[in-house]
Amino acid sequence: MATVRVVPRRRLRTIVAALCAGVLVAAAPASAGAAQDKSAAQDRSAAQARGAAQDRGAAQDRGAAQDNAPIRGQAAPARVKPAAPLPVRTGRVAVKAQAKALAGPTDRVALRSLVIATDTADWGVPTLTTTLNRVGAAYDVLYSADTALTASTLVRADGVGRYNAILLTSSMLVYSSGGSFISGLDGVEWNTLWTYERDYGVRQAALYTSYGTYPEDYCLRTVSETAVGDTPLNVALTGTGAGVFDYLKATATIPVVQSYVYRTSIAPGCSATSTMTAGSDVLGVRTTSTDGRERLALTFSNNVNLLQSDLVVYGLVRWATKGMFLGEQRHWLHVDVDDWFNSADHYFEDGHIESDPGFQVSAHDAVALKNRQAALRTAQPLAAAFKLNLAYNGGDIQPNSTTTCSPNGGVAQLTSTSRCLRNDFRWINHTLTHPELTTTDYTTTFNEISSNFTAASAIGLTVPANVLKTPEYSGLGVWNDNPDDDTSPPVDHGLGASNVNLLTAAQNLGIKYLHGNFSFPSHVPANFNTNIVHPLNAAVSVVPDWPTNIAYHTTTPGEETAWYNSVYGPGGSIPTFPANRTYAQVVDFEAAIALQHVASGSIAAHTFHIANVRDYASGKSLVMDWVEAVVGKYASYYSTPLLNVDWPALGAYTTLRNAHFAQRAAGVDPVYDRSAGTVTVTSPLAGTVQLSGVNTAASTTYGTDRTAPVTLTANTAVTVTAAPRL
Ligand SMILES: [Zn+2]
Repeated sequence: MATVRVVPRRRLRTIVAALCAGVLVAAAPASAGAAQDKSAAQDRSAAQARGAAQDRGAAQDRGAAQDNAPIRGQAAPARVKPAAPLPVRTGRVAVKAQAKALAGPTDRVALRSLVIATDTADWGVPTLTTTLNRVGAAYDVLYSADTALTASTLVRADGVGRYNAILLTSSMLVYSSGGSFISGLDGVEWNTLWTYERDYGVRQAALYTSYGTYPEDYCLRTVSETAVGDTPLNVALTGTGAGVFDYLKATATIPVVQSYVYRTSIAPGCSATSTMTAGSDVLGVRTTSTDGRERLALTFSNNVNLLQSDLVVYGLVRWATKGMFLGEQRHWLHVDVDDWFNSADHYFEDGHIESDPGFQVSAHDAVALKNRQAALRTAQPLAAAFKLNLAYNGGDIQPNSTTTCSPNGGVAQLTSTSRCLRNDFRWINHTLTHPELTTTDYTTTFNEISSNFTAASAIGLTVPANVLKTPEYSGLGVWNDNPDDDTSPPVDHGLGASNVNLLTAAQNLGIKYLHGNFSFPSHVPANFNTNIVHPLNAAVSVVPDWPTNIAYHTTTPGEETAWYNSVYGPGGSIPTFPANRTYAQVVDFEAAIALQHVASGSIAAHTFHIANVRDYASGKSLVMDWVEAVVGKYASYYSTPLLNVDWPALGAYTTLRNAHFAQRAAGVDPVYDRSAGTVTVTSPLAGTVQLSGVNTAASTTYGTDRTAPVTLTANTAVTVTAAPRL
């Protein structure tokens, strides 16, 4: 998404030829470092795609049980290797004595970040741009290996600064080429950048920094340096760090893994404050240069796939931008449980599956689920808003039931108990009888949706009129080509292969949001937290869910663990782990994957099924074990609440994000005027954009972040009050 202005390629320059003084001490770093990081990112994508393409390792029975959710989550952990050490340089680039530019012309800067990297192998680029893209921020990437940095790189013809934040992938911007170190920026370019930062009051953040003084002194002096592998180095926030990263708990421990780490100290008398420490060593610093520029830097590498990047990079960007940028980051946890009132396949520990009658939720299970959810809200205040979404099939609803809860009741009391608990959960239309909707005709499809609304209405369930979850995401271009094959994965034929009868029926019933799944590439929207306006019918949009590896047909820890190892164990169909996993390991691993979804700011729901709500012991269930683990991990790091909204609001948010990214693509241009205290937004496109760091009547807060949707008319300036973080 980054638009890089084309600048004529220039000759690579070696450090020896660079203008600045300095001596290169270290040998060239391991050449494969950056490349390995890049391939690690690709590995994870491949793992996710594999999870999508393959599934149903266990045999399934399509008998009486209705749901054969053929989806598995990510299993293979991201493989990441630490970045290479930075070269060692002495000396510094002299700050040129320049008259400060006149005030007035330098008061205005666009809300856009400039990422300055070395070359396309620079691991810091995906780490920084992934966060910027999640947020929805505007940015450019300048590859210093082949692009000059000049005054016009930074300042428009009318004097407005192009960027309100400078993000360096590393403090030195030195890279290896042909056995030599090459300086990405020369002394003139460094001074051009520093003059801009100084005159326009723009902050600079460096993702990766070592000790020393080149090209400028961050006040860091060496203590030691080391490569950290899978055993975490525990990093704590200082008081200053707790302010910069205030969405994290002040007491949070950041588990730094797969990283090259510089343990440093701050030079006495130097203008710097530590933000992060490991023991008594400094791993992050906030510092002011001798010419008054504000800088933030980390002294450990952060691969894009790692939780530590999810935890700290947003804070780096937020600090550098003074909290003023396009988009926002918030944290959400949404969980769907599919097939309520229906029956499910039941997987047993010996691997056999029963489908008649299979598993059915009892009234007792429903009450236990409600109690466990209530206990979670109390135990974890950050999850006080958490509420499960139940995707129901109303075909077995008993319309004349009572409204009494039966804590000890069986399957026969499920309707009455569901009525009793109707406001403890949310409800989603999942069709009346759970048919595959791949080829159904219009009338059948319409009636499956419509009658399911009627069935819920008859017992007083409140169901959003504009949301539908089709059985197994059917009707949305995913099916098994061989109708006699019950064990192979569905194939993603693309949304263009959707059942148009489904789309028309949905449209005519007022359905706007159809659940999709991230396992199917055609269901994955182009931008973060957006939806896909259906290519065959623009009245409906596809909003994808996250899959998990809590299998749809397992009801106990023993069953889940047996199934998991039958797939991912050393003897499994997709051998992933060197030894069979315990239930505790399965839940911990699955929760860690989900935590990264949550930490990324994903609003998408995670999908479970009714077998996972069985009270297997003392009110516990597989789904709530997972929820409690995810929330527990989240609460150990974050201070900001876990948001939880109903599906219409979730869908509407993705539509707002569609509008936001349309604005970003069109070049919406918010300009901060620091003397006036305003942000003036113009765009060639009418619509709505999310803006962080402004105060309007529509502003909302999340932690200490303040965000507003700003509605725009094409080519008409809108001015709002700026709310910079200082
Ligand atoms: Zn289902």
